[in-house]
Amino acid sequence: MSDSIFTHAPFVRDPRKKDLDIERTLKEAGFDPNLCMQCGTCTASCLSGRWTAMRTREIMRKAAFGDESVLSDPDMWLCTTCYNCYDRCPRDLKVTDAIIQLRNIASARGYVSDKHRKTVDILHKTGHAVPINDKIRAIRKELGLPELPPTIFCYPEEIKKLGEALFQLPPKPESPEEESD
Ligand code: SF4
Ligand code: SF4
Repeated sequence: MSDSIFTHAPFVRDPRKKDLDIERTLKEAGFDPNLCMQCGTCTASCLSGRWTAMRTREIMRKAAFGDESVLSDPDMWLCTTCYNCYDRCPRDLKVTDAIIQLRNIASARGYVSDKHRKTVDILHKTGHAVPINDKIRAIRKELGLPELPPTIFCYPEEIKKLGEALFQLPPKPESPEEESD
């Protein structure tokens, strides 16, 4: 079991680079494919898997074998990064970090669900993943608060800078069967 959540491997890879490969990325994330014994503890620990079709062991097995179909697998996006699997893996493999890094590769190749694309778009435009709406503005006003909280919402120039600095998602892959959603 992982000793501490503070032992994450540093995320040094830049998702904008196209030379990302699965094996190297897994190792950098702290997941040595040779050490995974396919025990399934990660799947059994996964709260997301209780409610969805996501099977953590299956994802890690595909990745460990360098099976690139894992990148277009929409189930990978059902991981909530709760770190249960990371804490319970008997081989101390950093499963969650590996999934996050796999998502980086997937994103760089355009495998991002429409819903996640929409969220990124909102983040670019507002600086927040969940933007403030008219109803919340009205409630704030009623409560005697400024319509906007003192966050990046109040600084359009900063939103612009943030939008420019954020990773721009590549277009979706052309082949319909390769699309993720
Ligand atoms: S819990 Fe660890 S060793 Fe077991 S299948 Fe998952 S990643 Fe592999
Ligand atoms: S980190 Fe992701 S894969 Fe691991 S248990 Fe949580 S939801 Fe499941």
